[in-house]
Amino acid sequence: MMRVVQHFTDSNLRNFSYFVIGEQGNAFIFDPWDGQECLDIVQREGALVKGVINTHEHWDHTRGNELIVKKTQCPVYAHPRAQGKVAEADVFLEDGDFIQVDSQSKLIAVDTPGHTMAHLCLLLEHQGRIEAIFTGDTLFNAGVGNCHNGGDPEVLFETIEKKFKPLEDHIKIYPGHEYLGNNLGFTLNYEPQNDEATQWLQKYKEIDWKNSPVTTTIKDEKEINLFFRLESEDLKESLAQNGEGKLSNRKEVFLTLRQLRNKW
Ligand SMILES: [Zn+2]
Repeated sequence: MMRVVQHFTDSNLRNFSYFVIGEQGNAFIFDPWDGQECLDIVQREGALVKGVINTHEHWDHTRGNELIVKKTQCPVYAHPRAQGKVAEADVFLEDGDFIQVDSQSKLIAVDTPGHTMAHLCLLLEHQGRIEAIFTGDTLFNAGVGNCHNGGDPEVLFETIEKKFKPLEDHIKIYPGHEYLGNNLGFTLNYEPQNDEATQWLQKYKEIDWKNSPVTTTIKDEKEINLFFRLESEDLKESLAQNGEGKLSNRKEVFLTLRQLRNKW
């Protein structure tokens, strides 16, 4: 049975690495933080490394590449615009290209610029149904990525609207970092009456990230992620009270939130 292993790195940036392991034991490693640790996990799982996938070019998502390639000679997949920016990258995925994991499962590339211009997310399809999406630094649990290092918030807005909002509710989010607690604080600051966010914050305090990490679904994001809630009256009212003025459309609300989150 195909499976996903979510690995919390316990690093100061709170990165996740992920492993998608097909039924024959073919393993694909997402965003390896520590190369040796990743190889150890693949071995523990009784699997074989068949590829590394980097969601984008930032060093904290690629630093394990060299060691893994040295030890396994596996291909490294990245965005076409990451060419020359990601060590060892040699296969470049356009929007819609896919990697076959096993006879029933594949990883489908989605072009998702905004956090950087060379950012890919990967949909995990199993038996013809999309089950999950690996979102790198584009979408986090209850938040979205910043645009400080080669990104553009207007482009990120388009990506969230066009590539994520249409996804079905059951789809799981596998983000590049654990920022859930901070993000929930941000949500509750502008929507103090958001019951789902309050419940998640309670649950958050109990989570053992190292041994049993959790994640959200698209349905959860619609409830607790302000960047998915651009039409919330409570949100718009708090932004107005905060002195942000009258925000006339979704894009203005999104850009204002992104600015506020930068200082949060
Ligand atoms: Zn990044």
